[in-house]
Amino acid sequence: MTLPGTLHYFPAPTTQAFCSQCGNPLSRLVPPEDNRERDVCNHCGAVHYRNPLIVVGTVPIWNDQVLLCRRAIEPRYGKWTLPAGFMELAETTAQGALRETDEEAGADVTLGSLFTVLDVPRVNQVHMYFLATVNSERLDPGPESLEARFFNLDEIPWEELSFRTVFHTLQAYLQSRASGQFATHYHSIE
Ligand SMILES: [Zn+2]
Repeated sequence: MTLPGTLHYFPAPTTQAFCSQCGNPLSRLVPPEDNRERDVCNHCGAVHYRNPLIVVGTVPIWNDQVLLCRRAIEPRYGKWTLPAGFMELAETTAQGALRETDEEAGADVTLGSLFTVLDVPRVNQVHMYFLATVNSERLDPGPESLEARFFNLDEIPWEELSFRTVFHTLQAYLQSRASGQFATHYHSIE
């Protein structure tokens, strides 16, 4: 995405100025019988709750290699990531993980079990990664990826990874390979 001037992407807003229901300015206050500040519309009465977002993705494995994508978007342009993205409305976490793997890598995968659940309270997100088996070597990265390719497990570009959740998930995968235990990992990233 290219935008005029120096802005290359829009950070997620942390407060809301106007009511998306009626267009009037919002007030920041604790609604009756609530226990924290919300963006409240004194015109139509709407309370604009904000809640954590869920990021879903996969750990796609092809013949002892892991599929990574190089980001073509901010943040972390040019860094390597597991295929993942924000869950959409009206889909399951599993459907979202498959969709993101298709959109970012064009990979045909069979989904396995849920592998990591990672809280990231600093940015109000929960990241969930599923194990996945790649069915075909053919990849077709979409516009959000500069490239997509398979890495041997001893060639993972640890210094060039996009996010700590990707780092943790890949570390957990290597540990599981070593131990043979693929239980779901839960971790909170402070
Ligand atoms: Zn309103």
